[in-house]
Amino acid sequence: MISIQNVSKWYGDFQVLSDCSTEVQKGEVVVVCGPSGSGKSTLIKCVNGLEPFQAGTIVVNGTSVGAPKTDLPKLRSRVGMVFQHFELFPHLSITDNLTLAQRKVLGRKEDEARTKGLALLDRVGLSAHAAKFPGQLSGGQQQRVAIARALAMDPIAMLFDEPTSALDPEMINEVLDVMVELAREGMTMMVVTHEMGFARKVANRVIFMDRGAIVEDAAKDEFFGSPRSERAQAFLSKIL
Ligand code: ADP
Ligand code: MG
Repeated sequence: MISIQNVSKWYGDFQVLSDCSTEVQKGEVVVVCGPSGSGKSTLIKCVNGLEPFQAGTIVVNGTSVGAPKTDLPKLRSRVGMVFQHFELFPHLSITDNLTLAQRKVLGRKEDEARTKGLALLDRVGLSAHAAKFPGQLSGGQQQRVAIARALAMDPIAMLFDEPTSALDPEMINEVLDVMVELAREGMTMMVVTHEMGFARKVANRVIFMDRGAIVEDAAKDEFFGSPRSERAQAFLSKIL
């Protein structure tokens, strides 16, 4: 579903990604971890074309992200992205947040978009909040709305960038629970997170990045059992 081959990226003279390669199969859940500044966000932004890269190829469901002819807005509409900060539209109700892109990007009719949005809102346990505005919800609730909003676009894959790291501790699990359920239903997911409990529960593989490179790309049990690199070992010993 996602193929990343020899991707490098520079900001001026600074190499932010160096020769990154990995693949995510359909239905696979891949957790990406590593120290702050190691290039995790940059890598997943490259996957849905939010950041350009200068070398290598990324192919998502048969579409080459870097190719000049690629319709990036169309690709982005099929790859759900959930960020650390929920990025809901503050001036729109929860219902409107859930329906706007369905109508504007996918051309769905108001009724259809609303039915779909409300079904997903129910699925993340928030059907009572449809008429509220984002500011009236807790951080954990807003992040669940953001996930529902991404799912409303019928994504072929979901990318998460530290979706729980801005949340108060008591709200982390309500968001992770939604993500676990999604993983178990077979969604293809790349998840930047340091929530190793989540990784242990649902990840197929764990990627460890350091200084722009993929230092380790291993099956979950292998990663937690005996990480090959010293850097991954040191990182794990700090966060576990
Ligand atoms: P991570 O998500 O692992 O913390 P990032 O992908 O956000 O890492 O950043 C990787 C590196 O690239 C960091 O050193 C960061 O300072 C640098 N960086 C990120 N965005 C930019 C930018 N727009 N211009 C220059 N450097 C950047
Ligand atoms: Mg980041």
